[in-house]
Amino acid sequence: MSDPLGGPALPEQVRRRNTATVLRSLREDGPASRVELAARTGLARATVGTIVGALEETGVLRHHEQVRSGERGRPASRVTLAGSGPVGIGLEINVEHVAAVAVDLGGEVRLRRTRVVPSVAEASSTLVQIAREVATSLDEAGMWALGATVAVPGLIEADERTVAWTPNLPLAGAGVADAIDAVFGWQGRVRVSNDADCGALAELHHGAGRGSRHLLYLTGDVGIGAGVVADGRLMRGATGFAGEVGHLPLGAPERRCGCGRHGCWEASVGLHALMARVDVPGPGADLGTAMRTAVVVAERARSDHEVRAGIAELGRWLGRGLGVVSGVLDPGVVVLGGYFEPLGPLVLEPARAALAEVVASPAQPVPELRVGALGPEAAALGAAERAVADVLDGTTELDPGGEISRPSASVRP
Ligand SMILES: [Zn+2]
Repeated sequence: MSDPLGGPALPEQVRRRNTATVLRSLREDGPASRVELAARTGLARATVGTIVGALEETGVLRHHEQVRSGERGRPASRVTLAGSGPVGIGLEINVEHVAAVAVDLGGEVRLRRTRVVPSVAEASSTLVQIAREVATSLDEAGMWALGATVAVPGLIEADERTVAWTPNLPLAGAGVADAIDAVFGWQGRVRVSNDADCGALAELHHGAGRGSRHLLYLTGDVGIGAGVVADGRLMRGATGFAGEVGHLPLGAPERRCGCGRHGCWEASVGLHALMARVDVPGPGADLGTAMRTAVVVAERARSDHEVRAGIAELGRWLGRGLGVVSGVLDPGVVVLGGYFEPLGPLVLEPARAALAEVVASPAQPVPELRVGALGPEAAALGAAERAVADVLDGTTELDPGGEISRPSASVRP
């Protein structure tokens, strides 16, 4: 192990990584004694003992059960992640609603909240409000925040703080990150992330992507967006804009897109394309109601073969585009989220067939296409996982100096 300049790792870096190794083992393989942890992780027993002792002191681990260990049958204690103490906070801001989810180190959801946004102009203040409620609730429950990530429907700069562009929300700049930092009494600690990136992480850890290491998540709304997970980690690209697939020329060439060009993928598979094909009137035309519209369409498809045919055509454009994107990324698993979820097999089957046709050679495996399992909560849940992931991969200190993360400092009136 070494630091980024190539020198030997500092003792605290080694300790942080070893602590992360122990935490991951407990999360992925369940409760263990110190001896079992040493065997699982390859760390020395003394090292494991020191780490477990320190984690017990901070309330991160709790006693699980007594077990016999060794030939003499001396009792040993199995420990498990406490399910209280530190949590990662995920926040989602959208045109219609804001949401908050807190996830503990074991991946359990400890808290969820949603609130309707009265108007687009009040979206940020509603988010701050819900963040304050979360801070208070964590205090009352004896939990404390490791960090927070805000999922935003837009482009995020590589600094993971600055919103570069949001088509439907006035969020440009680092204002959102600063405002949430202020709620928790932090400086520069809150991260902002693209909502499709967060959805990809949520499906990886909690939904249809569980068990995979490589995953492409495609979320459908008025626009479409993708999140890419490579070897268990988000792939963001050189400038943070990886996964911006909506305006790639993968759609029907004659279809005009909202961006003014023709042939964009989202002009053929976005919500408006669905509505044009199946002639769904009324409230579904509004932004943010994609899920509800899709539920209505799926219901209608049960008795109307023209609606089914319209969805199938959309599915074929979806599969064709996915074939191209998969040829570049080799994702193994593709999860369809957003408004594709309620359409289920109606869109999945034709997409699957078209995807298989595009894949070039018999040697190239066709990625497995699945429908997402998390619904509208996906973005907030994945955002919470981002905050936890920093500790589980050893890049962030579990308890970096008390005043930052202790409950007493986590609420600011
Ligand atoms: Zn376009």
